Amino acid sequence: MEMDRVLAQLRQHEPEMIAIRHDIHMHPETSYEEFRTSQLVADKLTEWGIDFERGLAGTGLVATIKGARPGNRAIGLRADMDALNMVESNTFAHASTIPNKMHGCGHDGHTAMMLHAARYLKNNPDFAGTVNCIFQPAEEGGAGGLRMIEEGLFERFPCDTVYSLHNKPGLPVGKFVTRSGPQLACADSWTITLVGTGGHGGAPEKSTDTTIALAQFILGMQTIISRNIPALESAVLSIGTVHGGMSFNVMPSEIVVTGTTRCHKPEIRDLLEKRMTEIAHGAAAMSGCTAIVDYQRGYPPLINTRAETDKAILAAAAVSGMDNVDGDNPPINAADDFAYMLQVRPGCNVMLGQGDDPKWKNNHMPGYDFNDEIISIGAAYWVSIVDQELNQPTD
Ligand SMILES: [Zn+2]
Ligand SMILES: [Zn+2]
Repeated sequence: MEMDRVLAQLRQHEPEMIAIRHDIHMHPETSYEEFRTSQLVADKLTEWGIDFERGLAGTGLVATIKGARPGNRAIGLRADMDALNMVESNTFAHASTIPNKMHGCGHDGHTAMMLHAARYLKNNPDFAGTVNCIFQPAEEGGAGGLRMIEEGLFERFPCDTVYSLHNKPGLPVGKFVTRSGPQLACADSWTITLVGTGGHGGAPEKSTDTTIALAQFILGMQTIISRNIPALESAVLSIGTVHGGMSFNVMPSEIVVTGTTRCHKPEIRDLLEKRMTEIAHGAAAMSGCTAIVDYQRGYPPLINTRAETDKAILAAAAVSGMDNVDGDNPPINAADDFAYMLQVRPGCNVMLGQGDDPKWKNNHMPGYDFNDEIISIGAAYWVSIVDQELNQPTD
């Protein structure tokens, strides 16, 4: 497929798509409350004659576009729609109009980009099979992707493979990065409650002391990365809060410690949880205390499959040239709930550079904004991956 021609055609609608992106940016909605955004997507799909269904995971939608040629294969393209609870520092005309809410991760851009691609594919159904455009709620911590799966996403809209795209500040406009295997981390949280008798600071022999258990736990925990995780693997363990005690002369009967773990492989994740639990119980026992361990698994590691990563690389190269595609980019410690979709379907997530000028602030920073320059490039990538998946000779 001639991607220059595709891009040129996409750019004819670009001003309209940028206006949609700005509209969404001005009206950010967080986890499962994307009512206006969902309605806007529905209105545009209706206007452009694209079939869709609503109601998956509340505000989620799936638009279905059939190719002009018959084919049994189907793919899923996923965009997230939610904003963040944060204060925007930008003062431009399309800044957030909702207090304490902001599209600080560019999901406004992802939504507009997917609409842009859906419209193109509807008008140019030059493929064999079915494309499902998945507009999901609640990526930022609410696991909207998982809820869509649980509500029958892939039974109602069968997909052989799934793809996603995230903008990436700090990377030149139009440059793509991805990798086969683990690309993003799991993001787990845990709470450990150390329980003792507490007692008089002047008579520790009559009490069990949770502060000693805490000290042993914090130091013991540091050995998980250094002694239990293989040297060539990576993992992060960090404590975020420590709360206990109210008085200088009373030993606390309870101390609560919370923290986060990040890693890229399921077996490393299992090991982190197991060792953390053992060390909490062991440290407590050394001081005659007990530990209650509550390990909460967040998003799983995001693991791209080999064959689909190869297709994503070819699709990106068709848009930006092979020199602008890094198909072996190192993993990072961010997380994304597209990981759940990759647990049940093969697929690949790519990151698309939105500019290396320092004015393009990192995701989740108060001065962040999505760069409209990549709205058509991203849409072209979606068209290109459809071409890779649904247009190749099968025999
Ligand atoms: Zn984010
Ligand atoms: Zn994001």
